[in-house]
Amino acid sequence: MISLEKLVRPNIWSLAPYSSARDEYSGKEAHIFLDANENPYNAPYNRYPDPLQRELKARLTKVKGVPENMIFLGNGSDEPIDLSYRIFCRPGKDNVVAIAPSYGMYAVCADINDVEYRPVLLDDNYEFSADRLLAACDENTKIIWLCSPNNPTGNSLDRDEMLRVVEHFDGIVIIDEAYIDFAQQKSMRPELPTHPNLIILQTMSKAWGSAAIRLGMAFASPEIIAIYNKVKYPYNVNLLTQQQALKALEDPFEVDKWVKTLLTERYRVMQAFTELPICQQIFKTDANFFLARMTDAKKIYDYLVDKGIIVRNRSRIQLCDNCLRITIGTRTENNELLAALRQF
Ligand SMILES: *Cc1c(COP(=O)(O)O)cnc(C)c1O
Repeated sequence: MISLEKLVRPNIWSLAPYSSARDEYSGKEAHIFLDANENPYNAPYNRYPDPLQRELKARLTKVKGVPENMIFLGNGSDEPIDLSYRIFCRPGKDNVVAIAPSYGMYAVCADINDVEYRPVLLDDNYEFSADRLLAACDENTKIIWLCSPNNPTGNSLDRDEMLRVVEHFDGIVIIDEAYIDFAQQKSMRPELPTHPNLIILQTMSKAWGSAAIRLGMAFASPEIIAIYNKVKYPYNVNLLTQQQALKALEDPFEVDKWVKTLLTERYRVMQAFTELPICQQIFKTDANFFLARMTDAKKIYDYLVDKGIIVRNRSRIQLCDNCLRITIGTRTENNELLAALRQF
């Protein structure tokens, strides 16, 4: 890895961050707070929330096995995705490389930040090659995006191949693990201490059943986390989100139960798809959804919408011709989907 100073945009490296009232005094001993122009009434919503979410990070440390100074929390994963461009990529100059197809936000955030996006197509089995990704890089490539399990394809990427990218690329490698709690494959979190150019994204939006509260996580070296903290909005994770996330983290066993149920259902629904005459192929998945190649995706999609059932039509995406992406729902919901498809 080249030095962080050379990877980070010069204006960000030298940035003096905003210092909030809560940054300047964060102790608990005081009993009168007249420093932040808050209203003394309407507790607890009158007070600004902890800008560094210390209590939540202390809890996450136990669940994830990552020290607090290696955790960044944001307004969904979308925040660390966007921040990564703003921190590392000079608009109009730098570029990023990513597997394709993958999560749409990487390309949208690249466009917003005027950063060139270089997609490298997966093969027909949705596998990727480290060499082909590395060959797409040049001296202005700052980030390589990987997503495992990948969206919309569902499969986990080969672990050794991902490590090869991390070890052979001079810049930042971001692995998005939004679906890791559903996966057979283990998280790359244990690789963080030995790979200072690795950033791992996770979220409470999927397995944790908390998409509404918007809580995304980035795990990385303390040096990278410090830069995220310097660039983010001071109070980027609101009090209600911090409280609700703490509550969700109290009961990881509930999450385990959901995951087990969803994986059982996924198996059953995929099995049923193989018996549908309108389904041509189902793809290997390690997530709470799967991709199915249909005889006529557009027609089937419209037919389902008519019945009030919404799946994701991915058929216009390269390598996903005629594919629908099916999220696993409750047993009742899945049965209704299957019954509708049998009648198509
Ligand atoms: C759903 C999803 C996310 C989650 O984004 P949030 O902003 O945390 O809700 C991140 N990455 C991928 C690949 C996803 O599919």
